[in-house]
Amino acid sequence: MELRGKRILIRVDYNVPLNAKLAVTDDSRIRATLPTLRYARGKGARIVLVSHLGRPDGKVVEELRMAPVARRLGELLGHSVQYTRDCIGEDVLRHSKELRSGDILLLENVRFHPEEEKNDPDFSQKLSQLGEVYVNDAFGTAHRAHASTVGVAKFLPAAMGFLMEKEVESLSKILRNPERPFAMIVGGAKVSDKVGIFKNLIDSLDILLIGGAMAYTFLKVQGFSVGKSKVEEEKLDLAKELLSKMEKKKLLLKLPIDHVTATQPLKPEPPTERFIRKKEIPVNEYGYDIGPETVEVFEKTLSKAKTVLWNGPLGVFENPLFEKGTRDVAEFLAEQKGTATVIGGGDTAAAIAHFKLTDRMTHVSTGGGASLEFLEGKTLPGIAALTDKK
Ligand code: AMP
Repeated sequence: MELRGKRILIRVDYNVPLNAKLAVTDDSRIRATLPTLRYARGKGARIVLVSHLGRPDGKVVEELRMAPVARRLGELLGHSVQYTRDCIGEDVLRHSKELRSGDILLLENVRFHPEEEKNDPDFSQKLSQLGEVYVNDAFGTAHRAHASTVGVAKFLPAAMGFLMEKEVESLSKILRNPERPFAMIVGGAKVSDKVGIFKNLIDSLDILLIGGAMAYTFLKVQGFSVGKSKVEEEKLDLAKELLSKMEKKKLLLKLPIDHVTATQPLKPEPPTERFIRKKEIPVNEYGYDIGPETVEVFEKTLSKAKTVLWNGPLGVFENPLFEKGTRDVAEFLAEQKGTATVIGGGDTAAAIAHFKLTDRMTHVSTGGGASLEFLEGKTLPGIAALTDKK
């Protein structure tokens, strides 16, 4: 795209966590857009950024204004970022036209308008007036067909930004031709959330490691006692079906062989004591992390892999008592030279960021739901809206 002197409307995903003082507590999604912004500034474009933040449900929510994000972006860029308290209207339009080459304007939270999530054509058209070209760099929102991710592309020449490109390339490589052996680590809370990914990738995988709460549903099918650990009773048949499919495929499957447990539920007060148990969990205990022997088996198995895709933490990493399994495996992968490690977004990316290992992985996706849907093989509307353009 020719950008010199042009107003460029860029959809970014600055849906970042804020603390009670409204300061940004994790700016990785903002950092991830810097290559696109620096490039556009370098070309002398006049930049208009649009994003959502949280779930204001179509009305103005004071705590969800974009002002703190504009400040943080300005600090990261070392250049002031302008900000408007709406994202459409006469004033905003005038402001966009007054921008000079290299200026950056961040618009107000686009979800303050109910038309955004309805993908309303009038609203899309109003947004489109703020640029002469449109770039989508919001991978984290690419699975949503909204006005600022899909609708606006009908009115302007449209392209993807560098973050979107990196996400699409990294995840497509995993789907199309991963270097083998190809291993997937799956964890997290529920089997049901990951069924799509299992189904899409099972034929391609060489190795599968299962941890996190979802492991207990599989372990229960195999006849182990899992105590009070989280089991999805209504998914036992599905887990059984998946296990027999994996067996037929001769896929190398590893489930936990030991556990870190506690005698209390996670809420209202988190447990303060932990126990290491072998394969069988006592009836009154909850499994909250994989144990040290499992970590050893996982690491040994992963050392054979050339590509590793990781989706879902291996334990309750938010609690220091139950973070070790996830941390050890993450640190091990960070050390593996010659292995491509791709981290699905959401909680897994949060865990990797918590361990300060983000920069040491091949790719950490900025999209939770979006990366899951991409890996399930679904077409993401935000990407389709760009690739359909001539
Ligand atoms: P997901 O969003 O499905 O990837 O799930 C992530 C959540 O699963 C995290 O908040 C973890 O605390 C939680 N989790 C992981 N392992 C366990 C476990 N053994 N018991 C309960 N929750 C877990």
